[in-house]
Amino acid sequence: MAGRYRIAVEQLDRDYELELSRHGPLGWLQPEPLSEHTQGRLEWLARISRDAIRSLIVEAKRGPTRHALYCPKCVFLNPLEVESPYWKREWLAPEAFMCRAHRVRLTALPASKARYSVNMSKLILQVSKHERKLRDRTR
Ligand SMILES: [Zn+2]
Repeated sequence: MAGRYRIAVEQLDRDYELELSRHGPLGWLQPEPLSEHTQGRLEWLARISRDAIRSLIVEAKRGPTRHALYCPKCVFLNPLEVESPYWKREWLAPEAFMCRAHRVRLTALPASKARYSVNMSKLILQVSKHERKLRDRTR
């Protein structure tokens, strides 16, 4: 939502009093469990049901998370909404390892890059830079 409005998640949090916890290893990408207050605010703001909000949340990984995993083939194209950047929930699961659609190993973006990105659009920009760096390294 922050990406769509071209603002930082932090600003969305502050302006709409969401009280998000953004202090996990991956920042806003994988928040700590949402309080009833936060779920209610998100329900109101996004105009989606509480169940839909709960279904979007992925349990934080146990122990320190040093990377945000993604599929380099899926990450740049959201099949449900081409113009909206996205991050698949399955990539955040503790057992994530392979892309189910492409059968390729997921790529690891350093967690610091995820935390540094203020919203989903900026995160996808970081992924582009990371992919370029990986490509240059193999030349
Ligand atoms: Zn994929």
